[in-house]
Parts: sequence; C-alpha cells; structure tokens
Amino acid sequence: MSDLHNLSVKALANLLQTKEVSAVEVATRFLARMGGNPHNAFLDIDSEVTLAQARASDAKLTDGTAGPLEGVPVAHKDVFVTQDFATTAGSKILSGYRSPFDATVVQRLRTAGMVTLGKLNCDEFAMGSANENSAYGPVQNPWDTARVPGGSSGGSAAAVAAGLAPAATGTDTGGSIRQPASFCGITGIKPTYGRASRFGLIAYASSLDQAGPMARSAEDCALLLSAMCGADLDRDSTSLDMPSEDFSASLNNSIEGLRIGIPKEFFGEGLHADVRAAVDGALREYEKLGAKLVSISLPRTELSIPVYYIIAPAEASSNLSRFDGVKFGHRAKDYTDLVDMYKKTRAEGFGNEVKRRIMTGAYVLSHGYYDAYYLQAQKIRRMIADDFQNAFKECDVIAGPVAPSVAWKFGENAGDPVADYLADIFTLPASLAGLPGMSVPAGFGAGNMPVGLQLIGNYFKEAQLLNAAHRLQQATDFHLQKPAGV
Ligand code: GLN
Repeated sequence: MSDLHNLSVKALANLLQTKEVSAVEVATRFLARMGGNPHNAFLDIDSEVTLAQARASDAKLTDGTAGPLEGVPVAHKDVFVTQDFATTAGSKILSGYRSPFDATVVQRLRTAGMVTLGKLNCDEFAMGSANENSAYGPVQNPWDTARVPGGSSGGSAAAVAAGLAPAATGTDTGGSIRQPASFCGITGIKPTYGRASRFGLIAYASSLDQAGPMARSAEDCALLLSAMCGADLDRDSTSLDMPSEDFSASLNNSIEGLRIGIPKEFFGEGLHADVRAAVDGALREYEKLGAKLVSISLPRTELSIPVYYIIAPAEASSNLSRFDGVKFGHRAKDYTDLVDMYKKTRAEGFGNEVKRRIMTGAYVLSHGYYDAYYLQAQKIRRMIADDFQNAFKECDVIAGPVAPSVAWKFGENAGDPVADYLADIFTLPASLAGLPGMSVPAGFGAGNMPVGLQLIGNYFKEAQLLNAAHRLQQATDFHLQKPAGV
C-alpha cells in the first residue's frame, strides 16, 4: 500500500482494526517520510519510541483490547509535555528538557490507541503567526517552500499537509490552530475554552490557551477531538465538568435551514480579494446545501487586537516567570549571584518576540498602568463576548475568513511584529470569547495558496461546527488537494 500516508485517520483506523495493515507498517511508512525532517516540521523524532508504541498497538489489536484509534499515528505540537520525547516549546530555554509526565491530551490520545510520531516545531511558547519565532528555525509551507506555514502551530499544519502525519495536535490562544490550518490547506478545530485539559500544555496565556486537533478533514478532527476532550478537574482548574462527546455522530446531519451569520466587520477593507473570493465561493456552496446566510455585526472586532495584545502578554509575563534557570532547561554559565543568574539565563534563553511580550505584559500589569490597560482590556473582552451572544440570537454558526491573506513569503513581515499582530484580526474575537472555532479548506488564492473558511460556533457547539464543515467537505474537494509531490 504505497499511499498509506495519504489515507485519512478514519481509513487508517479501519485498516488497522481489520488487520489489513499493522501499526508497525503504518509507523514505519511515516517514519520513512519524516527522514531528513522535511520542511523542518519536527523538533524531536525517536523511531525506537514510535516503533515500540506501534508494537504495543499491534498486540492490543490482536488481543482485543484495542482503542478506537489504535495504531493510528499522531504528532504533537512541542508545547505539550511528553515523557518519551524532549519538549522545548520552540525555545532555547527548554533545550533538551524532558518532562516526567505526559500532558492529559497526549495521554488521552495514547489511551485511544494513537502512536506518537514525534514533536512538532512551533513559534517559541506559541507566540507568533508564521512559525518564524521558533528558536529551531522556521517551518516551510509544503505548498510553497518560500512561504510561511502560519503559526504558531506551523509544524503541525505542515506535517499534515505534507503527509508526514495523518493528524496532529495544535494549540490555539489567538488563532494558532485555525490560521496555520488555513495557510496549509488542512482542517483544524479549537474547541470551547475548557473542553480539552490544559494540564501539561506549557502555558502561554492561560485564560485563552486551548488544545485541538488538526487533520485533513472534519471527519478526522471529530475522531481526535472526541478522544482529546473531557473533564480533568483535579489537574486543570479551568477544565469544564463535562464529558467528551461522540463528535462523529452528527457529521451527516442535514444543514437545511442552518442560519449562517456573516459578520460585516470580517469583510472590510483589509481582506484581500483572493481570500474574499474563496470564502464567498464556500458560502455559495452552503446556500446550495440549504443553509441561509444572514448578515450580522460583531462591532468590536477591531478592538480584539489591542485587547488580545494586552491580555495575552500580561498572562505570558506571569507564566514565563517560571523559566529562571532554577528548575527547567537552560542555565547561564557565568554569573555573580542569583539575580545575575536569572537575568543572564533569561537573556540567553528567550528569543526577541518572547522578550517583547514579557516586557509588554509586565508594563500593562504594573502599578499605575494596570487600570488603564489590563483592566480596560478585560472589560472590552467581556463586551466582545456579549457581541457574540447577540449575534447568536440571529444565527446558528458564524462564517468568515480565517486570515486577511494567504500565507506570506518568509521575511515579508520580518522586523514588523505589528504586521503579524494585525493579521490575527479574524481569529482573536472567538478566542477572547472562549468560543469554538475552526478552519475548513475553501479554495485557493494568490500563488495557488490555500484559503480557509472560518466557522465559529456558540459554546459547546463543536458538533454543529464539525457537521457544517463535513457537509461542505462532502460537496467540495478542497480538503483532498495536496501540495505537489505528496
Ligand atoms: N498569533 C497570535 C500570537 O502571536 C496567536 C498565537 C496562538 O494562538 N498561540 O499570540
């Protein structure tokens, strides 16, 4: 079977359960494709660990104790801690770090039977929109290696698009699942805040961080999401006391009469014409499927940029204080006293973007500025969430672009962090509100680069989002297109 790497998670799971292929064969195929680390997508690969897991899966498939995804490979964004692979969060400060435990999400996917292929490159501590902030070098977009894959889950998106893994985990604080999925032509979903445990997810901005799956199709994302979600009350204080769901159960439901809200603020000046055309095309498909488009307003969309870039750095400045050379990873070699050791370790260990955010965060939280920045931002955050609840009175799901443009070329935004921040405009609102959101391939734009359609649902409506995405994928084949040579 020469095209194993192009099979869906669902197809691989079926072949494994019926023993038409073994987990070792599947793992071997993907490990071979990962050789030489194409696109710089991986940060840690250990074929012995992967093959040992695959052998254990084969034993379970034989003795009847197999999980639903037994033997299907998955790769993890390097912000999830893992016992068997190094974890760096894309930072030099954690170079060579190995966790004594697995993140809950990693553990749950193992329990479902998934075999770990390795750890995926990402922006340092998940701060970025292009994967250009990784201390271990950028990731190339498999559709055009001169372009960025998006970020911060750039390695995850590139690995799936390039057929190096059938699925990957990602995290989304302000768009980091949806935007790279859009840039690399794959499907990704960020569930409602609190659905997936943050235990063992290296914290960036704790009130926003959420884990989710990235794969080729909504059908595959549903399989992974069901395995990933669920209460983890003892280990994550923001985990929801809610069982996971069978997100595959309603994929084929009719979407006749579904009201799709189109926020006018998502279709303004900044939106590139090629992206707009692809998004419009997907919306026309929805109309053919019987959905109704309704015009809505999310009036504070623009404010989501300053609000997010106050709240996220504020939380990051606190979360990242634990990287001080005492407990984890890197420690400076020559220092005079403890404070000097902290300073040198952090100066050497963190990259520029991380330092920029720590400084911004410390500033907005400082005495005298807290009320003017942080408190104001929290108030507007609440209003942004209220705007969504108003909108959901008129519609069931919201649709629009994921990003204003297709993936840009390396260096295009270099030296201009604000350009990257502005490009987050359409993903930040749902993040600030804690709502589920996803990216679904919707066509191609400039340079024949993929364009994603963003779908945003109300709280706990992941099943409805996946249903809407799956119906679109039954009617279109954008998610089945592959970069040349894959
Ligand atoms: N681009 C945003 C940032 O840099 C979002 C990142 C993310 O979701 N992790 O913060």
